[in-house]
Amino acid sequence: MAKISINLATGSLQQEEIIVGIDLGTTNSLVAYINPEKNPQVINDMGRGILVPSIVHFNEKGDALVGNEAKEFLTTDPENTIFSVKRLLGRSYNDVAAHQDTFSYKVIDDDKESLVKIKAGNRFYTPIELSAEILKELKSRAEHSLKTPVNRAVITVPAYFNDSQRQATRDAGKLAGLDVLRIVNEPTAASLAYGIGLDPSEHKTIAVYDLGGGTFDVSILAIQNGIFEVLATNGNTFLGGDDFDRAIVHYWIESNKLKEAELQANPGLMQQLRLKAEEAKIALTTQNIYNEKLGDIWCSITRITFQELIKVRVQETLDSCKQALKDAKLKTTAIDEVVLVGGSTRTPYVKQQVADFFGRQPHDQINPDEVVALGAAIQADILAGNRSDILLLDVTPLSLGIETMGGLMDVIIPRNAKIPTKAGRQYTTSIDGQVNMKISIFQGERDLVKENRKLAEFDLKGIPAMPAGFPKVDINFLLNADGILTVQAVELRSGVKQEIEITPAYGLTDDVVEKMLVDSITYAKSDVAQRMLIEAKSEGEQLVYTVERFISKNGQVLDEEETKITLVHIEALKAALQDGDKDLILKKADDLNEFTRPFAERLMDLAVSKAMKGKSVD
Ligand code: ADP
Ligand code: MG
Repeated sequence: MAKISINLATGSLQQEEIIVGIDLGTTNSLVAYINPEKNPQVINDMGRGILVPSIVHFNEKGDALVGNEAKEFLTTDPENTIFSVKRLLGRSYNDVAAHQDTFSYKVIDDDKESLVKIKAGNRFYTPIELSAEILKELKSRAEHSLKTPVNRAVITVPAYFNDSQRQATRDAGKLAGLDVLRIVNEPTAASLAYGIGLDPSEHKTIAVYDLGGGTFDVSILAIQNGIFEVLATNGNTFLGGDDFDRAIVHYWIESNKLKEAELQANPGLMQQLRLKAEEAKIALTTQNIYNEKLGDIWCSITRITFQELIKVRVQETLDSCKQALKDAKLKTTAIDEVVLVGGSTRTPYVKQQVADFFGRQPHDQINPDEVVALGAAIQADILAGNRSDILLLDVTPLSLGIETMGGLMDVIIPRNAKIPTKAGRQYTTSIDGQVNMKISIFQGERDLVKENRKLAEFDLKGIPAMPAGFPKVDINFLLNADGILTVQAVELRSGVKQEIEITPAYGLTDDVVEKMLVDSITYAKSDVAQRMLIEAKSEGEQLVYTVERFISKNGQVLDEEETKITLVHIEALKAALQDGDKDLILKKADDLNEFTRPFAERLMDLAVSKAMKGKSVD
């Protein structure tokens, strides 16, 4: 990327601006770039280490410290030391309430539906601001190390991140003074780091297994013609290396017969034990036994014991892999490559289990905690135009649509649609002279919008008064490569237009996404029945409206008897609508339709003969 060009106006040499790749992790973050030798390289500013712990500490004055310096305060000032903020990005209190006890800092719960805030010192911070602190630190390290301003970046997110989490990540970048060129999925970046997908003629299916500090996810990707597609994702946002550390701590508590009360009285000791446990775990990656003391506590453990302790959790990750394959409708034999991501895949037992599960040796040559950032740097290079056209594609996890008559969900972009994508449909009004149209946007798989999740709502105002059914309202959905949705409504006859960009008020956890999908299957039958009833009702009501209007406007084409019978049919239909029996509604609507059809024809004939009269034929 570091191309040098000559500015023709001034004759001076210009270095082309560097675009960095950033892995904004739950536990650790880091930044990488493409070096002058055209290789991706992680940035190690002044030998301060490559990984920047994703931890922010605020002092009384509100000054932020990020990384290892902040980590020190986990023990001494836990309330003002924020870790794992990525879990809170784009989330509401309701989304994270179940895990409140995993945070040592204060997550504000006064408005459970809106985005969370975190209290540190005497200020409130949004997860976006906190993530921005981490990004600022990475930006400044990159600038310091590369000795050039860094203003543009590609940032990675988990494949399962929804719109609002992606938008929050983008906003954090903006706040840190970065122009975020693209939000890229972590598994995609990891594949790119291994060069997978760089050759456009390559057709491959890849499993990316990512076990980090606090989260696990597996993604199944398909690569075709240089296009990455996420076929399925699965995982657990509360499973990772921290659990391994905790298991070791518990083991030591038991083996040393430590008393619960003793530990509770000394929270600092727990934290020290945890750090020691992580040290032991890392040591056991290369050796068979760890043996140390913390005060008078014996901290010893063998690799075999450690494996026993983590067995169940590792099995859980394999269960997720199984589910992801099932969702992608693939057998393990269909997987061409397996990529390991995340520091916890360094544990030999994890590596072995993954290899056994997929029946092939996974890629582990690149440091698993650097691989995502390196891939992000490659993506940045592609965006800078330094590589042949490589597209990165994703799919949307849930259907997107709008509310139509009777509270039905009308899907515009179906679930699993490849993004970026564009789709639209034409709608009209149901009442004469209707000048406003409410457009409510929902996400989910159920037939009724009330079972789905509302993203936004707006009014298309100023539609000129026209008879029902005349206005033509085009509603278009545009889902961009970052998963951000723009909805546009335009009335074609008048040109009135309204547009909205959706940054949903709060996000969805993957548990919720999963539940929404499961529910859509569980309730599929009753949903269909309800949909049919609602459709019958809307049709019936529309018919009553149309016929009543016809009679009041063109009553003259009906004789007295006909009018009477029509009214009887209308009453019968209204009664059926009251009853809510779908078949009866359809039957009565049919009757009314049958009986009144000739009148409309009569009116038409009348109009034609009138027109004929107006014309002089001879
Ligand atoms: P994240 O993506 O969640 O930010 P990382 O990929 O940086 O996380 O992984 C961090 C986890 O990796 C921590 O739990 C850390 O203890 C663990 N880890 C780092 N090095 C090793 C190692 N050599 N052996 C086992 N676990 C390790
Ligand atoms: Mg990670």
